[in-house]
Amino acid sequence: MPSFSRLIDSAKARYWTQRGTWVYDNALLLLLKCLWSNVVPGLSPFLSCRSGQEPECTMASSNTVLMRLVASAYSIAQKAGMIVRRVIAEGDLGIVEKTCATDLQTKADRLAQMSICSSLARKFPKLTIIGEEDLPSEEVDQELIEDSQWEEILKQPCPSQYSAIKEEDLVVWVDPLDGTKEYTEGLLDNVTVLIGIAYEGKAIAGVINQPYYNYENNEKQQFREHRNEAKAGPDAVLGRTIWGVLGLGAFGFQLKEVPAGKHIITTTRSHSNKLVTDCVAAMNPDAVLRVGGAGNKIIQLIEGKASAYVFASPGCKKWDTCAPEVILHAVGGKLTDIHGNVLQYHKDVKHMNSAGVLATLRNYDYYASRVPESIKNALVP
Ligand code: AMP
Ligand code: MG
Ligand code: MG
Repeated sequence: MPSFSRLIDSAKARYWTQRGTWVYDNALLLLLKCLWSNVVPGLSPFLSCRSGQEPECTMASSNTVLMRLVASAYSIAQKAGMIVRRVIAEGDLGIVEKTCATDLQTKADRLAQMSICSSLARKFPKLTIIGEEDLPSEEVDQELIEDSQWEEILKQPCPSQYSAIKEEDLVVWVDPLDGTKEYTEGLLDNVTVLIGIAYEGKAIAGVINQPYYNYENNEKQQFREHRNEAKAGPDAVLGRTIWGVLGLGAFGFQLKEVPAGKHIITTTRSHSNKLVTDCVAAMNPDAVLRVGGAGNKIIQLIEGKASAYVFASPGCKKWDTCAPEVILHAVGGKLTDIHGNVLQYHKDVKHMNSAGVLATLRNYDYYASRVPESIKNALVP
């Protein structure tokens, strides 16, 4: 029989490699605990999960509707990411203007949404699924359907407050391609696929696929080489998937914070107006990053590239914020409208985030306190 400490080490090591951080694997520890308490009664109290509580009190088995849905959404978002890359490779973007020249839809938005919504609906027919694109209902090509589930997620325990959720209680918000304007301009690393899951009006789980993670356009590459910075090598894998569940955590990236005292604001590059620029200026920023995509900006917050996402304007919708909000909240951040109101994700809620977005990983109160009253008055929730 292996020694007790070796069993624990192997449990720890699994998470070290998956997450790049030292977190116990609750499911494996629970199993070890059960095994060990039969062998050495009295040792079990020393095995605790990350919250410090007994695992069986806080986590249910992973075979819940929520965890199965997240595991499917992970694989489905990966497939959508492949579709997004394939459309670029084929060269015909099929661009359509929706409401104006900066509000676009491409063949990739259409195909990715068909793939995501049909794949989810086949496996979970009682879900409410709300996708960004208005598409005619038609038979979806079998080739677009993704049936698999990401096994690593099925090994994770479900937070107990979500263990009894039924399929019909969940609302899924789908942005098949976030950052379309930038996609059409070749700023491919701004693009993400967003699948957010809400329960009782609250965003509780989410998946973000970034199809061009590790992609470097020439300009950026030269800049990095000039600064002698590390770059993605030839073996770097293109694309990644980040996922999270409230009460469990967020995975698939390395959490990093902006250097203390620095105020780096990330905001829109293609949907700006006077309210947006005035609000950014009021933050007294050390630097302003103008990039595409709500998903991309939340990734900047959790990877230490920006300290606040400030967008004092209508324009962003529920499918833009649902999945990113979960990832940010799962690591202790906060996303609200510009007044500080929590966003709601009931199936009948207004799609538009009319009062903008304010999100930070840390120091939310500093940024919230600097939003001018005149800007708040101009943005009605
Ligand atoms: P951005 O930061 O400009 O990339 O916007 C984040 C998300 O909100 C993207 O999905 C945009 O399409 C959407 N969005 C923001 N402002 C507008 C707008 N004025 N019109 C249409 N979509 C917008
Ligand atoms: Mg979007
Ligand atoms: Mg979109």
